[in-house]
Amino acid sequence: MAPGGYDAVLLDIEGTTTPISYVHDELFPYVARNVAQFLEARWDEPEVQKHVRAIAAQANRDVEAGIAAAIGVALDGAQADSADEVRRKVLANIEWQMKADRKIGALKGLQGYMWKFGYEGGELRGAMYPDAVAAMKRWTAAGRKVYIYSSGSVEAQKLIFGYTDHGSLLEYISGYYDTAVGPKIESASYVAIAAAIGAAPERILFVSDNIHEIRAADKAGMQTVVSIRPGNMPIGECDFVCSSDFLDIAM
Ligand SMILES: [Mg+2]
Repeated sequence: MAPGGYDAVLLDIEGTTTPISYVHDELFPYVARNVAQFLEARWDEPEVQKHVRAIAAQANRDVEAGIAAAIGVALDGAQADSADEVRRKVLANIEWQMKADRKIGALKGLQGYMWKFGYEGGELRGAMYPDAVAAMKRWTAAGRKVYIYSSGSVEAQKLIFGYTDHGSLLEYISGYYDTAVGPKIESASYVAIAAAIGAAPERILFVSDNIHEIRAADKAGMQTVVSIRPGNMPIGECDFVCSSDFLDIAM
């Protein structure tokens, strides 16, 4: 059934507003390119040291777990590594973890911190599909509120929409949700978001490229549209409304 009669739109990011390749083609290479110089320049900053300690602690757990690529870091005590050694080892750990596309908290924390500088300094720009931007503006003009739900942190979401290749889009977004609200493939997450938004699930339109997320939102009672974009995972046959141009989505 075509969507209609909704008051709010809930948008996924990767594969929906933004090419799925963005993180791998832009965000990760930014960190790979800049991390050595970044650590050297900002080593003494408390925020950087917080991330360094988290990465070192993870590396030590990895060594204990027998992960061959991990390099132990002695942060404290009589046998502690010198600052230069710590930096070299932490950098080596970051590099192998990034090559291995490891999704661990310590690495994500540093990446997120670095991206902030990348966006603010103008080296990073959130890539947006033009029709997604136009649709966000049209929904807002028509009195429908737009919200974001992504597995990237709320902080990262605000950066990507705050510094896009179409300028800042923050004024078109009424709220942000990440997996703190629950996993994206569980319908309870969508029930919780509807409650937080203050709308019945039936009055919310969820758009995502991920069929499992679509099913979860549908089960929660939301209206749904599957986002079809170049490079997205083919969804095969599905019973949901699909769109490759969000300006075609019924208002
Ligand atoms: Mg997605």
